[in-house]
Amino acid sequence: MTTTAPDTDPSAAEATDRAREFSVWPATAAEGPDGRVLLAGVPLADIADAHGTPVYVLDEAEVRDRCRTYRAAFPAAEADVHYAAKAFLCRGLVRLLDEEGLGLDVCSAGELELAVTAGFPPERILLHGNAKSPADLDTALRLGVGRIVIDGPAEIARLAAAVGPRGHQKVMLRVTPGVGAGGHAKIRTGTDGQKFGLSLRDGHAQHAAARVLAQPGLELTGLHCHLGSQITEVKPYLTALRRLVGLMARLRDAHGAVLPELDLGGGHGIAHRPGEPVLDPTTLARRLRTALAEDCAAAGLPVPRLVVEPGRAVIGPAGIALYRVLAVKTTPERTFVAVDGGMSDNPRPALYGVRYAPRLAGRRSTAPAVRTTVAGRHCEAGDLLAEDVALPADTRPGDLLAVPVSGAYQLSMASSYNLVGRPPVVAVRDGAARLLVRRETLEDLRARDVGL
Ligand SMILES: *Cc1c(COP(=O)(O)O)cnc(C)c1O
Repeated sequence: MTTTAPDTDPSAAEATDRAREFSVWPATAAEGPDGRVLLAGVPLADIADAHGTPVYVLDEAEVRDRCRTYRAAFPAAEADVHYAAKAFLCRGLVRLLDEEGLGLDVCSAGELELAVTAGFPPERILLHGNAKSPADLDTALRLGVGRIVIDGPAEIARLAAAVGPRGHQKVMLRVTPGVGAGGHAKIRTGTDGQKFGLSLRDGHAQHAAARVLAQPGLELTGLHCHLGSQITEVKPYLTALRRLVGLMARLRDAHGAVLPELDLGGGHGIAHRPGEPVLDPTTLARRLRTALAEDCAAAGLPVPRLVVEPGRAVIGPAGIALYRVLAVKTTPERTFVAVDGGMSDNPRPALYGVRYAPRLAGRRSTAPAVRTTVAGRHCEAGDLLAEDVALPADTRPGDLLAVPVSGAYQLSMASSYNLVGRPPVVAVRDGAARLLVRRETLEDLRARDVGL
């Protein structure tokens, strides 16, 4: 009989550490005996060999799981779940989202065309934007998007004119409910005095709603708000909900208009590193449903159909960025591990200080962990992917480094800085990998440069 307690058993402790580390990875992630990391049964090292690095890997089962969690929490009988395309979009993902019964939020003619030409039903698409171009609006009307979310007073006349007196377009109104929430000042969008939406407090929202209601070609189906991103508390959503229901009641009183929809936007927070808080969609749904029923009953309004718009929470944790280490530099202050990507494929650390937990993905190391800064390859001192992370002291050029929770707002914000070309996207599922988006080549870049 063994006398070793589980918590002093080094292998048990190691297993606990590993489970904690992998808690932010897709559920299919596993570490082989040789230390190679597998996703959906596919070694990441094989993907790096086949497609080069940097490369982004998308775990299809994780995306579908997340879609299904949302659909179960917000059932189709009473709610719609729209994926925010700006987090990441490609045709393969469009197909998958359609299969899983989600709607789509787009912010440009480009996102819209990509989705519709990939077969996504336009009536399940919603167009956003604080400054929609003529092409955005023309494309939306031509393709027949389900809703256009009006963001400012000037858009009302513009849209009404474009729709024409005999035309018809369903619209929503983006309201800033005066709720401050979000992981960083640059991604807080629910407060007054910023570029999005119509203020509830100063009466602009109500005034705009009255003008929309007076347009015969426009059908106001509901109010919309989006508070910000990376929100981990339910409370800001409840506050926004209460204020929007208040405005719905005023619109009913003043104009007899009973709006059938209420869109609370996205921004549901996820963990980028083990132990960070998340916003659980099931909890959010339950509390929103209760609050909506109460607030509507108090206001004497029928319960509107609820719409939510998660982007990051659907795709973020399903993506892994895979880099090759190119250089290691040790200074008295810290160790730098430089990889073959950086701010051109992931500007988020530089933009708003996101922190990641990278790890070796191609081999096992028994070297002690040292405090390391993972740097990109670009010509900016601020091109750092992860600061003060623990990596093995023997990390060396040629090693593969994986950054989990890389599915959202990385490739969709990627640039051609230093002309390195944007990385490919590979989907994995049931032991097989397939290419969704190929690498951007120098030929691609040269083809647009027509001025010699
Ligand atoms: C960005 C955005 C979303 C999605 O935000 P996430 O943080 O990715 O969930 C939803 N709705 C609107 C209007 C947005 O601008």
